[in-house]
Amino acid sequence: MKAISLLGSTGSIGTQTLDIVAQHPDQFRVVGLAAGRNVTLLAEQIRQFCPAIVAICETELLPALKAAIADLDPQPTLLAGEAGVVEVARWSEADVVVTGIVGCAGLLPTIAAIEAGKDIALANKETLIAGAPVVLPLVQKHGVKLLPADSEHSAIFQCLQGVPEGGLRRILLTASGGSFRDLSVEQLAHVTVADALKHPNWSMGRKITIDSATLMNKGLEVIEAHYLFGVAYDQIAIVIHPQSIIHSLIELQDTSVLAQLGWADMRLPLLYALSYPERLATNWEPLDLVKIGTLTFREPDHQKYPCMQLAYAAGRAGGCMPAVLNAANEQAVALFLDEKIQFLDMPRFIERVCDRYQNHNRPDPSLDDIIAADRWARQEMLTVSQLPTPMISSR
Ligand code: MG
Repeated sequence: MKAISLLGSTGSIGTQTLDIVAQHPDQFRVVGLAAGRNVTLLAEQIRQFCPAIVAICETELLPALKAAIADLDPQPTLLAGEAGVVEVARWSEADVVVTGIVGCAGLLPTIAAIEAGKDIALANKETLIAGAPVVLPLVQKHGVKLLPADSEHSAIFQCLQGVPEGGLRRILLTASGGSFRDLSVEQLAHVTVADALKHPNWSMGRKITIDSATLMNKGLEVIEAHYLFGVAYDQIAIVIHPQSIIHSLIELQDTSVLAQLGWADMRLPLLYALSYPERLATNWEPLDLVKIGTLTFREPDHQKYPCMQLAYAAGRAGGCMPAVLNAANEQAVALFLDEKIQFLDMPRFIERVCDRYQNHNRPDPSLDDIIAADRWARQEMLTVSQLPTPMISSR
């Protein structure tokens, strides 16, 4: 029986993780929950899963959470704020920590969990994208497992089981193409937040759905794959696969290609991250190739989606540049969701922030360097987005 601490329990990854726990009560139990601000759902989860420790990130909501579970006996330990989330991450009883917190906020709790010797079911990309120079040595030092829960990285990880050292030649990351895959650049200039939030295949949180529409999500996944699997950027390619049935592929030295297939359902990679190396039986709908009929592939359009190239460039620059790219992107997505900037402003502004950082970048950054770069990039995005540009002044 594995004991799980779940960070981001009320979000998309969190609720799907709890679905899995509820379906496999003999395999998993929840010992810790951390959530941002959804008191009602968090209180329901506490009642259903009886964790020993709970944190709510939004400190002012602690009294409301206390009131919502006042009748429970026994009571879980209740904490608040980022420090509370860190305590849930390193809770002594947990074997594995699921990091479902969106954005760079997931970095410090994940580091705390690694230092406490927990295996990590990695559903937070930023941990590696921003934090890899610090996180990877810690993973080595503490001998913990980094188990990818992102569908593409899980696919690669599954394909790699049994591949000998040196056998891997290339990674092929598949991308659905996002909400706007059939629009022209001219049409992209006028898309709205509501349009961008309609993902054709996957049901996910708001931030990652926007990242899918710009294909920054795929760019970030390239960086994540580089760090997770130790593969050079030239050996990681992106292929557009609109059906989202093949979740990624690996090419071996002898040109054999292995793929992992499944419905577009995040629970499968999450389950494998939790059950690894075991395979647990589920009652989920089996894949039906005849029903799918056709799987298609095409070249990614870098003119239309410059975010992929921005991510490759930031990845190759290394040091703090991936953290800068990631933070600039998080801030740009927030500005787009607030309807402060246009869809096509996002890549343009991110590129400008990365350009401005270029001369400050250095190899082997410390955690403080990474956090400072993250803060700088967020601020710089606000500055850059207020520059008078033809696109903004013409609105
Ligand atoms: Mg993914």
